[in-house]
Amino acid sequence: MTVRTPVLIVGGGPVGLALAGDLGWRGVPCTLIEKTDGAIEQPKMDLVGIRTMEFCRRWGILDWVRDAPYPLDYPQDYVYVTNLNGYELAREPFPGRGFEPCPPESPQKRERVPQDMFDPILRGFAERSPQVALLYNCELIGFTETSDGVQARVRDTTTGAEETIDADYLIGTDGGASTVREALGIGMSGNPALTYTTNVLFRCPNFSKLHNKGEAYRFIFIGPEGTWLTIVAVNGRDRFRMSIVGSPEKINHSEDDIRAALLRAMGKPFDYEILSVMRWVRRELVADRYGTTRVFIAGDAAHLMSPTGAFGMNTGIGDAVDLSWKLEAVHKGWGGADLLATYDAERRPIGLRNVAEASRNLRRMLATRERLPGPEIFEPGATYDLARKEYGEWFAAIMRHEWFANGIMMGYRYDDSPIVWPDGTPAPPDVSHPYTPTARPGARAPHVWLKDGRSTLDLFGRGFTLLRLSDTATSNIEQAAAERGVPLTVVSLDEPGVLTAYQRNLVLVRPDGHVAWRADGEPSDAHALIDTARGQSVQLRQQQAGRSP
Ligand SMILES: Cc1cc2nc3c(=O)[nH]c(=O)nc-3n(C[C@H](O)[C@H](O)[C@H](O)COP(=O)(O)OP(=O)(O)OC[C@H]3O[C@@H](n4cnc5c(N)ncnc54)[C@H](O)[C@@H]3O)c2cc1C
Repeated sequence: MTVRTPVLIVGGGPVGLALAGDLGWRGVPCTLIEKTDGAIEQPKMDLVGIRTMEFCRRWGILDWVRDAPYPLDYPQDYVYVTNLNGYELAREPFPGRGFEPCPPESPQKRERVPQDMFDPILRGFAERSPQVALLYNCELIGFTETSDGVQARVRDTTTGAEETIDADYLIGTDGGASTVREALGIGMSGNPALTYTTNVLFRCPNFSKLHNKGEAYRFIFIGPEGTWLTIVAVNGRDRFRMSIVGSPEKINHSEDDIRAALLRAMGKPFDYEILSVMRWVRRELVADRYGTTRVFIAGDAAHLMSPTGAFGMNTGIGDAVDLSWKLEAVHKGWGGADLLATYDAERRPIGLRNVAEASRNLRRMLATRERLPGPEIFEPGATYDLARKEYGEWFAAIMRHEWFANGIMMGYRYDDSPIVWPDGTPAPPDVSHPYTPTARPGARAPHVWLKDGRSTLDLFGRGFTLLRLSDTATSNIEQAAAERGVPLTVVSLDEPGVLTAYQRNLVLVRPDGHVAWRADGEPSDAHALIDTARGQSVQLRQQQAGRSP
């Protein structure tokens, strides 16, 4: 039997589910296959970044995230300790997720919702759309790509029955060991082994009563050898994840090693139940290409990074949002011939950027291995409190780079994209902190609260949005968009705050919420603008001819 679908998504992790959900939300039929039954043995991600939360706002699932069972009042502190019954060297306090305010740059804030809570939310989002079919226990075993489409061979993992699925496009969101990437022969460049790490999920209902450090999200343990272990509160209740950080040297921690690490971390014997053990390699890799003409990769299939910074899934969901509107455009016929190729041009540089920052964060966490704590740090007695304080403050200052990274989460820009029309202004610095919003073409269109209580972000989504911030004509852009079949909504605003943030009278915002173009008046050639934004490479030709639209 052969099934037909416009878009076949391979892999039902968070990135595949987000892509399926976003395509469904855009009215594009798609089929997602996942080789497992969807159960998560050991949740990996637990931080839903601020930009991902902005997408959840757009998708109308904020209340599902808020109602996730991670307690709203569980403190999110980061605590640096010698051991849990030893010394606290420093602490970065954060309130529970229910009490953290939104920063001025966003209508949202980050959320602590681990994968075994967030995947079901994304699954519910995808299932909400009748356009989306989710097939669990269904594995991709191979595919062929032709100029007309893709034919995938899939196997029911419960019965072994095989069938084919014909698709216009195939997207591999099938994780680090991606079958799709492998089949395309795409290599990955970077560092394949930063550390060999062992994660241990354990249950301990009275964990915070066993020590005097209080409830916190993450404990980072520093011994005479520097940082060697972390423990995070996975569900804010009874489940914790210990990570023996390891090193580039291959190691296979035995159960005895694991129990010894738990004992050393607590500083005294205690009762716990080990739920699962995951031995993994921390990598710094980005795929050399993000796909071909009809087959693309996204998420961990395209980039593998250290979890330090919580960028992995959030970068992958950024991939999904970028790819999704382009797939919609070609599916509905208004996307230009070069539009899908811009997925690689826009997202690969972001993959490289975020992977590099994640590794910098790892080096920050391991800075204690370069500047080892002196033996006095571990000596009892108030005499050494000052030494502990100084060492802790030094480390806390370094670690703040990881905890405050809205520039990474929201500040990624498509400056050099062929479908973005530069306005000649200089590129602002790309730093992880502080995040400075900009409406320069290629950037995330900034958030500003409107008089009616909405955010500017609420104006963007399915089609292009032309913000008209003064009494400026827009008819030639509207006409060009209509002639090309490009969905465009003109939003006229009399909001000085928006004009201040966007700095031009007219701003064209793409369906993914990034600025495509801005100017104070209509372009002389609106067709060139619209054709560029929809991926007909007109801008490149125009640039070569030295003209503006
Ligand atoms: C300890 C740890 C903590 C982390 N914390 C964070 C965090 O806080 N925030 C964050 O953003 N990221 C975090 N990450 C990274 C994050 O977990 C990953 O980036 C994310 O899971 C990638 O999602 P994905 O959907 O691309 O891939 P995956 O989650 O790997 O999903 C891929 C799916 O594809 C399926 N699949 C594979 N092959 C096939 C096939 N042939 N046919 C059908 N299905 C197939 C798999 O079964 C799997 O379900 C963390 C990672 C680790 C290790």
